[in-house]
Amino acid sequence: MYLIEDDGLVLVDSGFPWSPRHILDYACSIGRKQEDVTHILTTHSHPDHTSGASRLARATGAAVVAHQDDTKLHPNGTASLNYLGIFGAVKTPIPFFQHTPVNLLVRDGQRLPLPVAIEAIHTPGHTPGSTSYLLKDKGVLFTGDTLFSDGKRLSRSLPLPGTDRRRYRTSVERLASLDFDVLCGGHGAPLVGGASKAVRQLVERSPDSPTWGDFLRTLPRRLLSGEPLRGG
Ligand SMILES: [Zn+2]
Ligand SMILES: [Zn+2]
Repeated sequence: MYLIEDDGLVLVDSGFPWSPRHILDYACSIGRKQEDVTHILTTHSHPDHTSGASRLARATGAAVVAHQDDTKLHPNGTASLNYLGIFGAVKTPIPFFQHTPVNLLVRDGQRLPLPVAIEAIHTPGHTPGSTSYLLKDKGVLFTGDTLFSDGKRLSRSLPLPGTDRRRYRTSVERLASLDFDVLCGGHGAPLVGGASKAVRQLVERSPDSPTWGDFLRTLPRRLLSGEPLRGG
């Protein structure tokens, strides 16, 4: 989860069902009120990124923002988050799978209606509606699980159910063509400085994203060397 502090507070992803308490405690610790959270941007619909959203939206009145391809559209014209047809489909409040209404559907290239300039970039592959958010003026990119950083190097996610490897590759190549200095990935510490160059180097070094076969083959070496257990 990342909090963008401006006139209001904009959250990128909302973590687990128990995360809102920590987010609101943090907002208070920097002298902000919970109503200051105006938007919850979701990078994709996986429950580890969104299952705190409905509780947080109720507590703050914030709008939940997502790409249509990670939502389910209902006959009454509303949308809710959706992963593999299960997340968001259950009406009872089961943690991780509860119904999360989406207030704003974003399109590729859309500039969000916020005081801070944020552009949505549709980067499908990890999930169909995966979206990155670019703060052009600040040179900061939020990628969700399209890319990971451990603060030193970048890596890509392994294919999970719902992953489209061809679209994923195209999306990472597209991110490599942008200009930004800081990359905030889906997990791990942000990569600060020269981040767009690091994405280009990753794509040049190994254009194809890692497979589970690659992961299992290199697992013993990674365990012995203490490398992070992620994709490559
Ligand atoms: Zn994910
Ligand atoms: Zn994740």
